[in-house]
Amino acid sequence: MSEESLPSGEELEELRSLIEKTLAEVEASLEDARDDAKPVNLDLEIGRVSRVDALQQQQFAVARRGELETRQKQLRSALSRIQAGSFGECLRCEEPIGLRRLRVRPESTQCRECQESAATHAG
Ligand SMILES: [Zn+2]
Repeated sequence: MSEESLPSGEELEELRSLIEKTLAEVEASLEDARDDAKPVNLDLEIGRVSRVDALQQQQFAVARRGELETRQKQLRSALSRIQAGSFGECLRCEEPIGLRRLRVRPESTQCRECQESAATHAG
C-alpha cells in the first residue's frame, strides 16, 4: 500500500505552474532544435565544418528534437489530467503517485512501484 496522498488544491496549482514553465522551456528548445535538425545540404559550401560534422550535428539535433517532442506531449497530457481531475493518480494501479515524485517529474504517469516493475519487465 502506498502512503502517498493526492496533491491538494494548492499543491495542484504549484504543479500546474511548474508544468507550464517546463513546457515553455521545452517549446523554446524545440524551436532551436528544429533549425538544427533541418536536412544538411551537402552540395552547399560548408566551410570549416566538414560534411561529416554537419551530418552528425544534424542527427544529434533530430534525436534531441524527438526527446523534446516526447516531453512536450507528456507535459501537455499532464496539464489535461489536471483539468480532468485525474492528475497525480498512477495510470496503472490508481494509487497516488506522490508529491515528491511529481515535483521532480510532474509529467509522471505512474507511481514509483509501477514504473520500476515496468522497467524490470522491459528488461
Ligand atoms: Zn502504480
